[in-house]
Formats: sequence, C-alpha cells, structure tokens
Amino acid sequence: MSARILIIEDDPTNLEVVSYLLNAFGYLVMAARDTGEALRMARRERPDLILCDIQLPGEGGIELASRIRADPALRSVPLVAVTALAMVGDRERILSAGFDGYVSKPIFPDSFIETIKGYLGIHGENPRR
Ligand code: MN
Repeated sequence: MSARILIIEDDPTNLEVVSYLLNAFGYLVMAARDTGEALRMARRERPDLILCDIQLPGEGGIELASRIRADPALRSVPLVAVTALAMVGDRERILSAGFDGYVSKPIFPDSFIETIKGYLGIHGENPRR
C-alpha cells in the first residue's frame, strides 16, 4: 500500500513540484494551504507523513507543529519541515517545535525522495516519543 503524505504549502509552485515528485514515486499526496485546513485534514486522514512549510498564512508551521504534537492522535506521525529559512538558530527552532527534521528548498529530487523514505521508515518507532 502506498504511503499517504500530507503536504502543507501555501506556494502553488512549490506545492506542484513536491506533489509531482511524490506522485511520480508512487506516494499518495494530499495538500493543505494553511494551518487550519492542515489540522482538519490531518485529523481526518491520519497521513503516514506530514511535510510542512514554515512560512504559512495565519499561525505558521512552528505553531502548527506544536498543535500536531499536542494531539494524541497525531503525536507519532513523522513531521518534516520544508523550508527556505537558513538563518542560524532556525534548525533548533524547527526541531524544538516538534519537527523530526527538515528539508531545505530548493528541492533536489533524488535526495528529497531518499529523505522521505527515511522518515517513513521511522514511523511508529521514533525513540523520542
Ligand atoms: Mn510559504
């Protein structure tokens, strides 16, 4: 069975690129464009992995990560930030918000897919939780 991946991304071009890539590798993709839609979709669909942009309209990815981690039904879903942020301290801010890791934009297809496979592999056995 294909893994189901929720992408939270407000930029249409980035969303298209990531969706296309994941589809091409056989993943089932669902998309949300803001944090409210993302939470509703995550609770309803229980994806195997969540990919989340950091700069989003409304609350943003950092706040969304805290909400996902506070939800018993979503707590153990692998959560990966996809972000262009490159400032010193962002890595710590992202990880301490509850993300398992992050991928930097721009996306490089081969390494991106390898990263996704890696995070799907930790599903249910992350020693942090
Ligand atoms: Mn954005």
